[in-house]
Amino acid sequence: MNTKNKGFSTKLIHSGDFEDQFGSAVVPIYQTSTFAFKNADQGARLFSGEEKGHIYTRLSNPTIEALENKLADLENGVGGIALSSGMAAVSTVYAAFLNQGDHMISTHAVYGPSRLLMEDIYSRFGVESTYMDTSDPVAVENAIQENTKLIYLETPANPTMELSDIETISKIAHKHNLLVVVDNTFSSPYLQKPLDLDADVVLHSLTKFINGHADVVGGALIANNEDVLKKMKKIMRYMGGNMDPHQAYLVSRGVKTLALRVQQSTDIAKKVAAYLEQHPKIKWVNYPGLKSHPQYDLAAKQMKDFGSMLCFELKGGIKAGKTLMNSVKLALLAVSLGGVESLIQHPASMTHAGVSEENRIKSGITPGLVRFSVGIEDADDIIEDLNQALENV
Ligand SMILES: *Cc1c(COP(=O)(O)O)cnc(C)c1O
Repeated sequence: MNTKNKGFSTKLIHSGDFEDQFGSAVVPIYQTSTFAFKNADQGARLFSGEEKGHIYTRLSNPTIEALENKLADLENGVGGIALSSGMAAVSTVYAAFLNQGDHMISTHAVYGPSRLLMEDIYSRFGVESTYMDTSDPVAVENAIQENTKLIYLETPANPTMELSDIETISKIAHKHNLLVVVDNTFSSPYLQKPLDLDADVVLHSLTKFINGHADVVGGALIANNEDVLKKMKKIMRYMGGNMDPHQAYLVSRGVKTLALRVQQSTDIAKKVAAYLEQHPKIKWVNYPGLKSHPQYDLAAKQMKDFGSMLCFELKGGIKAGKTLMNSVKLALLAVSLGGVESLIQHPASMTHAGVSEENRIKSGITPGLVRFSVGIEDADDIIEDLNQALENV
């Protein structure tokens, strides 16, 4: 179906679909590694690009392509690629746009492994990086060096919920001929569309909100122009970070309810944040939808709503945080986020344990910070669970 000029929810359901010979209502799983050519000439035409079609699943596959087209449509990009994981997307972006001697600027409170991949692995190939507070666009511009090629933003950032101004930073970046990549995992295209704010590439861990059911790992990259898309595709095809058809099928199924899930969990998160903020045992709550969030206005401007991720610190620090995590009964004590179930975790000892303590503190990841991913259980039950757990603190 042609979903041009259709609304976001219509695109969620129908975008990327194609008709097959049976009139299948959903795109089936094309669980095949290779595709037979009609004859030698057709094989040659497919390889030369003269004819469009599938050759081999690492290069392209109908089930995966349907998902890629849907994601590109949702983010208002020209095209996208689906990958085996969010980290495959991160490594593909680094490999596509950074050469030996180049420099990248990135948000300090970024997803832990995104930073570790750069500082531990890409540094070995001579790529330099600066991790900084990207919430201040002037500071970002001041950090640009001769050899800077890429600005890699994560907003809201993991786990501090710090925001970066995508439009202003993209304007600065383009003045200096730099590319802007935005990890949009925490918002999903339902809440935020970085390409509409002039970013060049959107990155997703599909594992989180887009699939939304905590049952598959996946990643994606969406580009705002063909040249950028081509460079990323080339890396994926050579390095082999491609998705599998079965994975693509599951994500295509999960994404259909994205708008419903994200809106519902956002509405609940507002109540949870308000509850936590007034609790005497809580030191502070960071949630973009609270008036107390220093970037509430930016969140209201660049996001459709405030999302369902929040973090907070207990007055009793790390010890109190541990007691809380051991006392919750409804929320699962688990990493990951953006699923239908509420999840609680402790970044300093879990997702960001690999980042040095010094860098954690600099990035606002305090020892007692607890991250909460609000699911779509009943708001009263989630709050009641936190309430009984806080009584033990
Ligand atoms: C989970 C996550 C990633 C990595 O994705 P995987 O699917 O786990 O490889 C990257 N960025 C953010 C913000 C994430 O939350």
